[in-house]
Amino acid sequence: MSADAQRVMERCSALASVTDVAGETTRTFLSPAMARANAVVGEWMQAAGMSIRMDAAGNLRGHRGEAAKTLVMASHLDTVPNAGAYDGILGVVMAIEVAEAMRETALPFSIEVIGFSEEEGVRFGVPFIGSRALVGTCDDVLLATKDADGVTVREAIAAYGLSCDALPEAMLQDAFAYLEFHIEQGPVLEAEGCALGVVEAIAGQSRYVLTFTGKANHAGTTPMKLRQDAMSAAAEWIVAAEALAQEKGGLVATVGSVSTIPGAGNVIAGEVRVTLDVRSAKDKVRREAVSALLAKAEACGLGRGVRVETKLRMDQTAVAMDASLTATLTKAVGDDARRMISGAGHDAMIVAPHIPSAMLFLRSPGGLSHHPDESVLMDDVQAGLDAGVRFVELLAVKENNA
Ligand SMILES: [Zn+2]
Repeated sequence: MSADAQRVMERCSALASVTDVAGETTRTFLSPAMARANAVVGEWMQAAGMSIRMDAAGNLRGHRGEAAKTLVMASHLDTVPNAGAYDGILGVVMAIEVAEAMRETALPFSIEVIGFSEEEGVRFGVPFIGSRALVGTCDDVLLATKDADGVTVREAIAAYGLSCDALPEAMLQDAFAYLEFHIEQGPVLEAEGCALGVVEAIAGQSRYVLTFTGKANHAGTTPMKLRQDAMSAAAEWIVAAEALAQEKGGLVATVGSVSTIPGAGNVIAGEVRVTLDVRSAKDKVRREAVSALLAKAEACGLGRGVRVETKLRMDQTAVAMDASLTATLTKAVGDDARRMISGAGHDAMIVAPHIPSAMLFLRSPGGLSHHPDESVLMDDVQAGLDAGVRFVELLAVKENNA
């Protein structure tokens, strides 16, 4: 039996109607809709000859084969609020389809397909709870994190009928390779006319909050040379951040949020708080850019009598995919396969430091994601499935020769 893109598309749209909020697609960690989604996906796993279990983090796991050595194919089943049908879900459904297609093929390893319970960080403000359980980093800090109703991760797990005491059993034991299919969620593949992209690395991220503090005063009576205008300082700096990122290849910098105090049209801004998000596949490039930008903020404040305070919110180093596995995936796609960097974080970023990992992107029409109109082309899904099957075959040859 060959892998069937049509069925993948149908399954993704069926799952889009499994939701916590009527009229849209919203599923968060251990919610009632997640339980229903797990039941549906569990049936598909069983139909592909897998035995299923749920681990202590609520990850749905389908396993087939007797060999200890295991190839893991996974992505996430949770969504952002009012999501599309493919982010995460496509990766799980495609993995099941690849497993189904390999059913009659004797493999020197077992196959495990995992639907992660949590990747988006919606309920607890902390992402990757599912994949963190696989690599044993669901620590006490994470388990004590509370959602908007004051429920901790630990309590949510218990309320779902699971126990944190069993978390060690969620850890991967004999996994020798990890593969994740995911939509690109960006415009690069479409712009270049490519169906698929082999991910070489997931970009590192720095996130900061900068507070520019000047002096609020009357917009009409305060002469220009006597002002301490926090808004002007912040504005000059925001434009400088854009210019710096444009100069450096492979770097993106974003100021996505600005808030001002007092925030009135006839008052000079006394305080402006802005966010900074800097990403690059090269940690050195990212760190140098951040230092330059923080120094620039000081300089923008200095001439205006504006003080700048910076707070680090996130420092995630870049994560490279496994070179050998990525070479195998490239061969499976075709030697001219587009290789690329992921600007967004994915479960593969959590798994890769522990288990050799590879990741395949599928073109996102319109570059659109985290939106109900998110889509994927059936021909691209077929190309991805064909590459997935070929990847498993190449891995089997490699293992048999090892
Ligand atoms: Zn995702």
